Amino acid sequence: MATQRKHFVKEFNPYITCYICKGYLIKPTTVTECLHTFCKSCIVQHFEESNDCPKCGNQVHETNPLEMLRLDNTLEEIIFKLVPRLREEEQRRESEFWKRNKPQEIGADGSPKAKKARTDEDYENEDDKDYHRSDPQIAICLDCLRNNGQSGDNVVKGLMKKFIRCSTRVTVGTIKKFLSLKLKLPSTYELDVLCNGEIMGKDHTMEFIYMTRWRLRSETSYPMVLQYRPRIDFG
Ligand SMILES: [Zn+2]
Ligand SMILES: [Zn+2]
Repeated sequence: MATQRKHFVKEFNPYITCYICKGYLIKPTTVTECLHTFCKSCIVQHFEESNDCPKCGNQVHETNPLEMLRLDNTLEEIIFKLVPRLREEEQRRESEFWKRNKPQEIGADGSPKAKKARTDEDYENEDDKDYHRSDPQIAICLDCLRNNGQSGDNVVKGLMKKFIRCSTRVTVGTIKKFLSLKLKLPSTYELDVLCNGEIMGKDHTMEFIYMTRWRLRSETSYPMVLQYRPRIDFG
């Protein structure tokens, strides 16, 4: 019975493995232009360097190929059913990932929070304290947009730590403050913060963006990715 099952799964292998990493598709994500499917992390990483599909070579989008990605939940369920223990393994990998990449906590004012000892200063503002202690938290990956010919290219080299954790009520304006602090951005520069290629207004909260921009694209996976792009502020 077990060998029979093995043969069965083998026949499906071309449809459930990733062209880039050759492993089983993890968070299978389809390029809507050509319908080729890859692991989410494989294809997102690929699009940081290229706008073309790795399999067929077709250009996916002129500027922001990430916009053309859709998570395939049905395929994911099929793979989980075909490959025993894959779901458990993936969950284990995910929790190990977070152990390795401890997200930086950021406060309601955009300041990076200390890991262990919190000073009285942190608690000076009561509202501020409540703001992120009792709120649901969200993990976010901050990616620097490069190769776009923008004037800020040379200034920003990307964050040292891409992963942050903050309250879902934190706004884009706060994320911008945090980024300016961390990147030591000259005051002549402004930052755009984008989700799926769309510039986000500074009053949008992380919860709003997650619900309206990230999850609607059937992105159920963690963490939400926000991109940032520096530009010279002429205003
Ligand atoms: Zn892959
Ligand atoms: Zn393709």
